[in-house]
Amino acid sequence: MAEAACVRIRGTETVFNPRVVSFMIRYECDRCGAGLRANDPQRYIVKIEIYAAAGPAEISDDDLRGNAGSVEELVTELARADPDEIEDQVYRCFRLDLCDQCRKALIAKPLG
Ligand SMILES: [Zn+2]
Repeated sequence: MAEAACVRIRGTETVFNPRVVSFMIRYECDRCGAGLRANDPQRYIVKIEIYAAAGPAEISDDDLRGNAGSVEELVTELARADPDEIEDQVYRCFRLDLCDQCRKALIAKPLG
């Protein structure tokens, strides 16, 4: 008899059987679209982080003296900027699923 994916219901919350659900979840390679299972030995996870190399700006009292106009301009510019664009400039991370063939291609030539 097959194990049920949904093992019990608590109030209105459905509780899933992780052993069964892990076999049911389908992934696909983010590079070529090949189908992959959750526990597939041919499935690889790639994490990419892109962040600004510069550390946080250090602003001293001397910097602020006589430069209040520049600081005000910067604050106005930031208030008008697209938050997603600002975030892209500072930090972005990606999580990708790859098949074995695409993993090998990535390792051979990471920047394509
Ligand atoms: Zn692939």
